[in-house]
Amino acid sequence: MQSTDTLLIVGAGSAGSELAIGVRQLGWPGPIVLLGEEPCLPYHRPPLSKAFLQGTATPESLTMRPQETYEKSHIEVRLGIRTASIDPTAKTVTLQGGSTLAYAKLALCTGGRPRQLAVEGLVADATPANLHVLRTQADAKAIREALAEGTRLVVIGGGYVGLEVAASARKLGAHVTVLEAQPRVLARVTGEALSAFYTEVHRDAGVDLRVGVAVQRVECDQCGRVRAVICSDGQRLEADCVVVGVGMLPNAELAAAAGLAVDGGIVVDALGVTSDPDIVAAGDCTVHDHALYGRRVRLESVPNALEQARAAASGLCGKPKPNHAVPWFWSDQYDLKLQMVGLSAGFEQCVLRGKPQERSFIAFYLRDGCVIAADAVNRPADFMVAKRLVAAASRIDAAQLADASLALKQHLAPLACA
Ligand SMILES: Cc1cc2nc3c(=O)[nH]c(=O)nc-3n(C[C@H](O)[C@H](O)[C@H](O)COP(=O)(O)OP(=O)(O)OC[C@H]3O[C@@H](n4cnc5c(N)ncnc54)[C@H](O)[C@@H]3O)c2cc1C
Repeated sequence: MQSTDTLLIVGAGSAGSELAIGVRQLGWPGPIVLLGEEPCLPYHRPPLSKAFLQGTATPESLTMRPQETYEKSHIEVRLGIRTASIDPTAKTVTLQGGSTLAYAKLALCTGGRPRQLAVEGLVADATPANLHVLRTQADAKAIREALAEGTRLVVIGGGYVGLEVAASARKLGAHVTVLEAQPRVLARVTGEALSAFYTEVHRDAGVDLRVGVAVQRVECDQCGRVRAVICSDGQRLEADCVVVGVGMLPNAELAAAAGLAVDGGIVVDALGVTSDPDIVAAGDCTVHDHALYGRRVRLESVPNALEQARAAASGLCGKPKPNHAVPWFWSDQYDLKLQMVGLSAGFEQCVLRGKPQERSFIAFYLRDGCVIAADAVNRPADFMVAKRLVAAASRIDAAQLADASLALKQHLAPLACA
């Protein structure tokens, strides 16, 4: 048992690491224990589908902070251990194996896991060796080992992870087919202009990108490896390797079993506090009410994990700094850096500034005349301005926004929407 001023953090990812360091810096007086299921120190996940898959980043280069940083901050990091349950009344957690740890405060930073593909030909708990998902370093390593010049790769899902894997695999010389069940790629996160742009980019790069095509079943050989993917349009695609990128599920089961409020993720306030005042949560496993959008959101991004972790740390140390950050995200595919701010769902008008054919443009999304989101492709300076415009819900004339001869910065003193 630990002493009762212990902060236990379950989940050693972006949020868990940031929270551990953050609380210590803000003066948490007692022991801090960071518990992680994966065998390695907290690492950056975004390169897994990018530089790491392409072989230009090593496992070491992904590590967020070296062991010494935790040691200097007197943070005990315990890896390779799954937390099995929480008893909020006794204020203890039980680890897989049966040992119990007591806490004064508990932080849940358990992230998420890939949604599994459920189609004919696949048996639960008997995943074919050449069918992969991508969440961990181990997943990325397995995919990397399977990809080579000429490998026939089928990517199921045209979201960010799927498209980034496709781009990386093309760099490695693989033959890539992407199957997206929706009528367009990135449909869940962006508007038609961006979807059309990325479709063309991938097709130009040699990806066989098919939209409106669902996977009907997979065909396995005698060794249990996927031999072909059969599509809803009857096409049969032979495959050496299949990567499934069909979304993520929040790891909220621990919280739910402990009786915490869960609604598609662990419900937290702006300081990360859950329905139990002694338990905070941060990162991909959470949902929160977002003032700017007037609704509950679950965000899957590093910036959100860090902001929520910092806010939770501030609250735990009695120096509250609530999180009201505007969501933002990035994606790297080929030579393109996409940066997105805000949530475009429900937009009424999309205004383009710059030209997609020049591979440098920004799409603004307006609702009721206010800028609610923006997607910038190879426009880092404009993106910085866009972040401020979205945060202020600026009301801007669409024609002025589109006019590249007018500096975007001039809109920084806008009328804020009521
Ligand atoms: C391939 C890929 C590419 C990405 N690219 C981008 C990008 O370009 N930009 C961006 O902003 N975001 C990107 N993301 C998303 C980003 O990585 C996540 O939003 C971020 O990692 C969330 O951090 P987290 O701490 O909430 O969760 P995670 O980083 O998932 O960490 C959670 C940790 O908790 C552990 N855990 C879970 N349950 C338990 C338990 N019961 N006991 C012990 N440990 C447990 C897990 O093993 C995991 O290590 C990408 C994600 C992936 C997978």
